[in-house]
Amino acid sequence: MKTIGLLTSGGDAPGMNAAIRSVVRASIFNKLKVMGIRHGYNGLLNGEIGEMDISSVADIIHRGGTMLRTARCDEFKTEEGIDKALNIIEVFGIDALVILGGDGTFKGAKSLSDLGVPVICIPCTIDNDMGYTDYSIGFMTAVETVVDAISKIRDTSTSHGRANIVEVMGRDCGDIALYSGLAGGAESIIVRETGVDIDEVCKKIIQGRNRGKLHHIIVLAEGITSPYKVSEDIKDKTGAEVRVTTLGHIQRGGTPTSFDRIMASKMGYRAIELLLSKKSGRALGMRCNEIIDMDLEEALNVEKTFDEDMYNITKTLSI
Ligand code: ATP
Repeated sequence: MKTIGLLTSGGDAPGMNAAIRSVVRASIFNKLKVMGIRHGYNGLLNGEIGEMDISSVADIIHRGGTMLRTARCDEFKTEEGIDKALNIIEVFGIDALVILGGDGTFKGAKSLSDLGVPVICIPCTIDNDMGYTDYSIGFMTAVETVVDAISKIRDTSTSHGRANIVEVMGRDCGDIALYSGLAGGAESIIVRETGVDIDEVCKKIIQGRNRGKLHHIIVLAEGITSPYKVSEDIKDKTGAEVRVTTLGHIQRGGTPTSFDRIMASKMGYRAIELLLSKKSGRALGMRCNEIIDMDLEEALNVEKTFDEDMYNITKTLSI
């Protein structure tokens, strides 16, 4: 093995750059050539490929986004798309791929792996929605962003004695809402996994008001129900003044936390270690604070579970 191809795909996540830097530097240290593929699978199909050197990844460890850019690519899901990718991989003399992204990206990587291309996947998605790993790169940075927003909203919420709904990302996985809700001291958390119980939210607002509480923060994961509908329902049932803040894409950017940079650096390094020891078709991850690697297919089949204990702690502490 002489040449590694490296790409980032799907939604960008803070820490992807730190992982890119790690893969490139660990490869060059081990006398491997690294070909950077721009715009994910799209760029692979279009041959947007160029060699990376040590300096090409200088000054990126602290930057959000991905210097290789990212894209979604429907053509890659087709047989013709995969054939085209195999040709490009051969033409550019790529012996193995390191692929960064979420579970869609991993499925794409598996298609290549099934056809004999050595691949290693690194989980990068702010949603933390992959079941086989406790952690995906970018998650804690997104949580920090939300907690920072909650703290600011809490100030104005208290000043005006209002309830505030903070809509966050995570339509299929409530981890961002759960972790930021706990860290931000939110009174209510509404995620897909638990469903919507407006009466419970209203009861908390009324109980809080009766004991002189001035603010009430509700963290709502997007895509479950309209935050404006929730706002209207709360107004009707409690008479409280309610404001809605949708955080949106602000959650995807920003300088990665130290934890994300460390995870990214460790996983990037480990990806090259695995390839050098002739292992491939593996997904890197974290379990019980240890970096692990797992068969890609097996990893894709592990269902994500919701942390009920954490949810109950959040509920208990927000009485
Ligand atoms: P995020 O969790 O941030 O959305 P993701 O990696 O899950 O990231 P997707 O848009 O689902 O993002 O997937 C990224 C790309 O991976 C797709 O645009 C497509 O090129 C490829 N891909 C997704 N699913 C498959 C599949 N079943 N087979 C082959 N390729 C796939």
